[in-house]
Amino acid sequence: MNIHEYQAKAVLQSFGLPISPGVPALTVEEAVKGAKELPGPLYVVKSQIHAGGRGKGKFKELPADAKGGVRLARSIEEVRANASEMLGNTLVTVQTGPAGKQVNRLYIEDGSDIEKEFYLSVLVDRETSRVAFVVSTEGGMDIEKVAHETPEKIVTFSVDPATGVMPHHGLAVAKALGLSGDLAKQAVSLTTKLYTAFVAKDMALLEINPLIVTKGGELKCLDAKMGFDSNALYRHPDIVALRDESEEDPKEIEASRYDLSYIALDGSIGCMVNGAGLAMATLDIIKLYGEEPANFLDVGGGASKEKVTAAFKIITADPQVKGILVNIFGGIMRCDVIAEGVIAAVQEVGLTIPLVVRLEGTNVELGKQIIRDSGLNVIAADDLDDAAQKIVKAVRGSH
Ligand code: GDP
Ligand code: MG
Repeated sequence: MNIHEYQAKAVLQSFGLPISPGVPALTVEEAVKGAKELPGPLYVVKSQIHAGGRGKGKFKELPADAKGGVRLARSIEEVRANASEMLGNTLVTVQTGPAGKQVNRLYIEDGSDIEKEFYLSVLVDRETSRVAFVVSTEGGMDIEKVAHETPEKIVTFSVDPATGVMPHHGLAVAKALGLSGDLAKQAVSLTTKLYTAFVAKDMALLEINPLIVTKGGELKCLDAKMGFDSNALYRHPDIVALRDESEEDPKEIEASRYDLSYIALDGSIGCMVNGAGLAMATLDIIKLYGEEPANFLDVGGGASKEKVTAAFKIITADPQVKGILVNIFGGIMRCDVIAEGVIAAVQEVGLTIPLVVRLEGTNVELGKQIIRDSGLNVIAADDLDDAAQKIVKAVRGSH
């Protein structure tokens, strides 16, 4: 789960990290009121969407030469003008995809005088099974580009969980960023606090880009992207409260209500599978036969008829889906329950696209019988290979 920049900054502040004062705003009036509470005379009007690259982004509704999604304002009136241009419009950045995201919230921040911009992120490194830091002097810009073109400008190290964060980690950050004296001291404190916040809140990613040195000689987190391990959210109700569902895929929200593991993808074949491993294999085999899956969906081991019905509805509600593949290996899950769920869902939402069903395992004969008796136009398949070929052939017939 991700949160907005202004929320992430509040989390950082609660761990004593240096940020600028700022006020979130949902309307132009709130933006103006917020700006008046800030010291001025420089303000930053920042679009709050769950995507980076806002500064270089473009608003769909505005002329091509209009300013982006992060704007400097030198008076309250400029804050007002920028806020009214940004709110309600659609910002397209390298991370939003071509559809862009509607800007419904702004963050009005006290403007900083920037001396230098750095890059710093904290993440879980799966290779070392540790929390790792990625640091670079090349801040503010596209870190993927830096990694590709000048990898020597990126320094990474990981923290041994047995010792936790130590002063030498902070000194490594200072060295990587060329900081000495008081700024090196600030880097040590910053590194310690970032690590502490990351672990305490079960984050999956914490990216500060840019981390700046101000003209006054202070380190500050000027941007913050924060993502959390969703498996640990149950122990962070304060973080769950920050969830902004308007930033998430509505199909994924619906799926989470039924406790289904669902991830929307770009292809045309909707998949309903039980077990993550089988779901992955199903996606692979669809690709092997030359088509793309529309989703990953694991209905789980002991899914009820209601859960199967909900899953089927989520798949069919996606206009990209040109065919459905149900692939169930019934162990704990019984094939007759799946069959009943599928039929209940089809009766409710109808079926206008091809449906291939492959059932195997507990009560398989009963499951197949239920589908045959339903009179529905279902294409039966014997094994995974057969099922994949049949659904690929069926969707190809439709386009
Ligand atoms: P992003 O484009 O979504 O990554 O948004 P950022 O919050 O990183 O802002 C983009 C850029 O705007 C930064 O890299 C800075 O160059 C600039 N910027 C943001 N805040 C300030 C500020 O307080 N003062 C100045 N001078 N520039 C800022
Ligand atoms: Mg940024």
